[in-house]
Amino acid sequence: MAYDYDDQNIFAKILRGEIPNKTVAETDHTLAFADISPQAPHHVLVIPKGAYVTADHFAADASDAEIVDFWRTFAKIARDLGVTPDTSDGYRMISNAGVHGVQEVPHFHVHIVAGRPLGRMLQAQ
Ligand code: AMP
Repeated sequence: MAYDYDDQNIFAKILRGEIPNKTVAETDHTLAFADISPQAPHHVLVIPKGAYVTADHFAADASDAEIVDFWRTFAKIARDLGVTPDTSDGYRMISNAGVHGVQEVPHFHVHIVAGRPLGRMLQAQ
């Protein structure tokens, strides 16, 4: 089944400049901004500017240029935050998708969360 993209989602409005954001980085294909409800000292959202709903949608349909730009921007942000584990204490990258993933905003995004011990990835059921 193909994805339907809802262009009224919050991140689409941010990309159109209709609501403000605290920009961390911007390139031709990618925007990164502070999460409005940070879960750790560092909490940045990285999103493609294109209309993709989930990671699998992005990986399947985005151009090579968009995909490379996204991940290089992601890496630069982690480096600039000083959280990469080669020199510091590391980070967690999260991308929620769909109902079981509890995705609130249906525009593909990666969370970079860092700055404190983050505990185990999932709670035991
Ligand atoms: P999820 O879709 O579950 O991966 O999470 C969506 C994330 O977007 C949450 O961490 C929210 O705090 C964040 N968020 C929602 N609205 C805004 C906004 N206007 N600016 C920045 N972050 C937002």
